[in-house]
Amino acid sequence: MSRRLVFLGPPGAGKGTQAQAIGRKLGLAHISTGDLLRKEVADCSPLGREAKVFMDRGELVPDAVVVRMVKARISEPDCAAGFILDGFPRTRAQAIALEAETHVSRVFFFDVADSALVKRLSGRRSCPRCGASYHVEFVPPKKAGICDLCGSTLVQRDDDKEETVMRRLVEYTAKTADLIGYYRDRGILTSVDAFAPPEQVEHSLIAAIRKVPEA
Ligand code: ADP
Ligand code: AMP
Repeated sequence: MSRRLVFLGPPGAGKGTQAQAIGRKLGLAHISTGDLLRKEVADCSPLGREAKVFMDRGELVPDAVVVRMVKARISEPDCAAGFILDGFPRTRAQAIALEAETHVSRVFFFDVADSALVKRLSGRRSCPRCGASYHVEFVPPKKAGICDLCGSTLVQRDDDKEETVMRRLVEYTAKTADLIGYYRDRGILTSVDAFAPPEQVEHSLIAAIRKVPEA
């Protein structure tokens, strides 16, 4: 019995923040394709070397590469109890590939005004070890520059610099936003007010997830 969830929304909407916290609280595996790709890049694997070119430009990594990685990840034992996909699918082809692989229980769309995204991304600080996300103003760590969860030194991601942020937002609008209608048409989309403070977003998401039937 498990719930297989997708967190969908623009870069900076708060998907990673919520997926990490809720995954821990509800015992769901948190699968961030961005984190998986950054690990491949850090390891200098062949996949990482291929992906890096696209990530540095703020573009989507080719579908075949990401789909292969997700298929392998969701077949790992910790996913049997359910998972949250954060940042996947990002194209229609990825959504179709996911459907062929597993049944998606519910998709949560993080609804937030475009005007908030640049400020969220430019102030984001990330933990290179555990992937936790902070914000210098909105979600500060207890000790400046240090991850609350694992004590590592926080960094600013290279792709959170302004020109790359703009390119990522354009990619989202061109290739990913279409998935809102795709999942709405299938009757499995729930919109969440992601403009609210993080604790409030978490509260409404947990309430909504508890209502999703386990399959
Ligand atoms: P995503 O995974 O969707 O790209 P993140 O979860 O990394 O986004 O959040 C982007 C930035 O916004 C981070 O700096 C995070 O701390 C901050 N953030 C997340 N949720 C909220 C919120 N509800 N209100 C304000 N800032 C938020
Ligand atoms: P994220 O951490 O989700 O903001 O993703 C960072 C970068 O990784 C994106 O800008 C893309 O280059 C790449 N990426 C992450 N997930 C995907 C995906 N599902 N499809 C294609 N590229 C992805």
